[in-house]
Amino acid sequence: MLLLRDAHNRTIRDLRISLTDRCNFRCFYCLPNGEPPLARKDTILTFEEIVRVSEIFVSLGIEKIRLTGGEPLIRRDVEKLVEKLAELKSSQSKVRSSQLKDLALTTNGYTFPKRAKALKCAGLDRITISLDSLKPENFKRITGVDALENVLHAIEAAKKAGLTPVKINAVIVRGWNEDEVVDFACFAREMDVSMRFIEFMPLDSGHEWKREMIVSGREIFKQIDRIFPLKLTEKSRGAETAWKYSFADGAPGEIGIIAPVTEMFCGACSRIRLTADGQIRTCLFSTEEYNLRDVMRSGATRAEIIEFIRTVVMKKETRHQINDVSFVQPARTMSFIGG
Ligand code: SAM
Ligand code: SF4
Repeated sequence: MLLLRDAHNRTIRDLRISLTDRCNFRCFYCLPNGEPPLARKDTILTFEEIVRVSEIFVSLGIEKIRLTGGEPLIRRDVEKLVEKLAELKSSQSKVRSSQLKDLALTTNGYTFPKRAKALKCAGLDRITISLDSLKPENFKRITGVDALENVLHAIEAAKKAGLTPVKINAVIVRGWNEDEVVDFACFAREMDVSMRFIEFMPLDSGHEWKREMIVSGREIFKQIDRIFPLKLTEKSRGAETAWKYSFADGAPGEIGIIAPVTEMFCGACSRIRLTADGQIRTCLFSTEEYNLRDVMRSGATRAEIIEFIRTVVMKKETRHQINDVSFVQPARTMSFIGG
C-alpha cells in the first residue's frame, strides 16, 4: 500500500471529519452568532458518503478518525455512523491491507450522557469533551448556555462507559478564563482525566481574535507547574499536537498543552480534514478547499477518488501563517472546518 504523503514528506495518518457546522452552544471563540443560514441540506455529506470516503482514506493509511463539528451529536443516529466506521478497525476487507486503529469523537457533552453507552457499544474508542470553565456563571458567559452541570455529567458518563482516558479541552483566553488554569489542573487530578489547554486561534466566526487575548502555552505551564510540579511524559511530541505532562507527585490525571500559535508544530503534522459539506482541507488555516463531495457525486470510480485525494494531499501547506504580517483569517470558521 502506498501511504498518503505530502510534498514535504509528511505521512498523513489522521483524518478529522466534521459532521455538521451546526451547534447548540454559542462559544464566543467559535460560533458566537450561530451558523450562517445556508441552504445546506443537500450539500452536507450523508453517512453513506462519509463511510465510503473513510474506507478509502483508511486504505491509504489513515489510522485515526475523529468525528467533530459543529456539535457532532446534533446529527441524528451518530451511533449508526460510529458502528459502520468501527468496521474499518477489522482487517477482514479484501480491498484494504491497512486498518483503522482509533475512532474518536469531540463533543460539547450536552447530549452525551444518555448516548455514552450506545456510542461505546457501537465501537467508539475515545472521547474529548470541551469544558472552558468550572464556574457556572463563567461557563454560561463563554458558551452562551447554562450547562456546566450537563458537561460534568458527560465526563462522569464517559468514564462509566469506559471511554477512558477521557480528554477535556479548554481554550484559555485572556479576560475570560485564564484565572481558572490551576483549578482545571486540580480537576484533572481529582477526576483522573487528561486536561488539555489550547491557545485561542483566529478561527472564530465573530472575528474577535486578537493576539493580546492569547494565553501562551508557556504561561499555562508556569501557572500549573508553580503549584503542581509537572513532569514531561515524552521528550518528543511526534505527530501529536500536545506536550504531555504527568504530576511529579504521582497524582492521577494528565496535563496536555497545545500551543499552535506560539509553538508551531506544522513540521510534524499528520492531519487532514473533511468539512461537513465534503471539502478537503489540508490545514486548519487553509484558504483553499478541494471539493471531494462533487467528485464522489459525479460518479467517480474508487481509483479516481484516490487520485483526487493524493493530488490534494500534495498541496498541503508547509506551515500556518498566523504569525506572519500577511496572515488572513480563513473564511470558514472552526465550527465548519471541524476542530
Ligand atoms: N462542538 C464540539 C466541542 O466543542 O467539543 C466539537 C467541535 S469544536 C470546534 C472542537 C474543539 O475546537 C473544541 O474543543 C473547541 O474548544 C475548539 N475550538 C473552537 N474554536 C476554537 C478557537 N478559535 N481556538 C482554539 N480552539 C477552538
Ligand atoms: Fe459549538 Fe464546539 Fe464551537 Fe462551542 S466550540 S460553539 S460547542 S462547535
